[in-house]
Amino acid sequence: MHEFGIAYDIFATTRRAAMEHRAQQVKKVTVEIGEMSMVNPEQVIFLFDTLAEEDPLVRGATLETVVVATLSRCTCGYEGDEKFVCPLCGALPELVRGREITVINIEIEVDEE
Ligand SMILES: [Zn+2]
Repeated sequence: MHEFGIAYDIFATTRRAAMEHRAQQVKKVTVEIGEMSMVNPEQVIFLFDTLAEEDPLVRGATLETVVVATLSRCTCGYEGDEKFVCPLCGALPELVRGREITVINIEIEVDEE
């Protein structure tokens, strides 16, 4: 299952960052999901919650997903959101953005003592 690997990566990244910053608790994680990544955000959230449940550091953290629109570019100079056919020349445009899954923010609670 595609989503499981992604949820696991997000979980592992979050956990690593939390430990590096000596966090007591992770509050919120924000992830950008490219429109073309073929990922179902709800399913990623569900799987992330399942993984987080097993870990005291991440348990209860909210996973927020932000869908990133596609950006494509063609050799003819076209730039826009067409995914498969360039509207100017008919060639296959290159996807510049829209396929990636990136953790952009992790909110943690740190014990100051
Ligand atoms: Zn073109």
